[in-house]
Amino acid sequence: MKTKTLKKNKVNVVTLGCAKNIFDSEVMMAQLKANAFDVEHESEKKDSEIVIINTCGFIDNAKEQSINTILAWAKEKKKGNVDRLIVTGCLSERYKPELEADIPEVDAFFGTRDLPRLLKTLKADYKHELVGERLLTTPAHYAYFKISEGCDRPCSFCAIPLMRGKHLSTPIESLVSQAENLAKNGTRELILIAQDLTYYGLDIYKDRKLAELLQRLSDVKGIDWIRLQYAFPSGFPMDVLDVMRERENICKYLDMPLQHASTSMLKAMRRGITKEKTTELIHTIREKVPGIAMRTTLICGYPGETEDDFEEMKEWVGDMRFDRLGCFTYSHEENTHAFKAEDDVPAEIKQARANEIMEVQSEISLELNEAKVGKKYRVLVDRVEGDRFIGRTEYDSPEVDNEVVIDPQGGYLRIGDFVDVEIDSAEHYDLFGKVI
Ligand code: SF4
Repeated sequence: MKTKTLKKNKVNVVTLGCAKNIFDSEVMMAQLKANAFDVEHESEKKDSEIVIINTCGFIDNAKEQSINTILAWAKEKKKGNVDRLIVTGCLSERYKPELEADIPEVDAFFGTRDLPRLLKTLKADYKHELVGERLLTTPAHYAYFKISEGCDRPCSFCAIPLMRGKHLSTPIESLVSQAENLAKNGTRELILIAQDLTYYGLDIYKDRKLAELLQRLSDVKGIDWIRLQYAFPSGFPMDVLDVMRERENICKYLDMPLQHASTSMLKAMRRGITKEKTTELIHTIREKVPGIAMRTTLICGYPGETEDDFEEMKEWVGDMRFDRLGCFTYSHEENTHAFKAEDDVPAEIKQARANEIMEVQSEISLELNEAKVGKKYRVLVDRVEGDRFIGRTEYDSPEVDNEVVIDPQGGYLRIGDFVDVEIDSAEHYDLFGKVI
């Protein structure tokens, strides 16, 4: 049943999941545009002939969100508001046969490394000369910057290697030219992402090359901030810390998912590190890069996690005082190593433990924020909200960390500009200040 005329060759790309998926959607959108498609990202207009959903298949909640999004667009297709519905990304990589059987309204399913085939289905060509080019979906002044694909780590709970494959680094020269292009187009902040940043180079250069890559990117004119997300603790390349300390435009910020603090849990999770070694590493990082803000992610309710394991982790979170912390409940993922174990921690206990960790963290976050009152910070303006501007310090990554609510003092600030702000009040996860 056709209700309206859909715009020919118009594509609406919908992205779910992590920053790596955002990066992949941006690459796909650049390829589509170069093939004369009219491309939009997450348009609500429902006037596109083609909808492509880039899905996430990481854990339960993410999978559910992806399936619900596909079903919602399948309904739109039945109503005649979409001609072609295409699904790609991690969920599709992991569950293609099941999805094909369950959701016949979808015209085609593709995996995480199928862009050329997806384009072919739309009678478009994969343009090699565009490698690294993207249509940014983030505000122009910051961009996610994927330096490698896949992961070789054996973490027992993680399905990502099943969906993203083996670790594959992008060569330094290609990354530097991507960064130069982005800088030319007004990008000032590069947010380096991967499944594991610290593994960079071990495949193509047989050596850890993250420090060298950082030096090269730091030399790119126009890039004011370089941020590191998704570092792995075991085998952490210490030379990275020297570059972070020496280079002004590398944010004093490090995201390092640690997952747990009890050594028996870390062992069961196959993380290749102990509590003592983890604690030592964090102390070393804080010594070598004074003032660095550390973000981490933890999992509660892993199979076999006892009350003691949990209490040990909770106490450790209180001692380590991370600047930023997120906490997930364990998701029992088939075909992962942990799936062989019994998922023996009840869901309500998992959730209660995660809540307790976040309660401890929110008090720490408030104390750390209150200590910033009266101080001055360089803030990157991200957006405007009413008569206030919202920005971030170098200690905050977009979407996941704190924000600064800026009083422009009667002036007008340009989005994408850096301004100096004096902090005059603080809340658990936000700072408030005026331009100086
Ligand atoms: S490092 Fe571990 S948790 Fe991270 S993507 Fe690789 S296997 Fe998964």
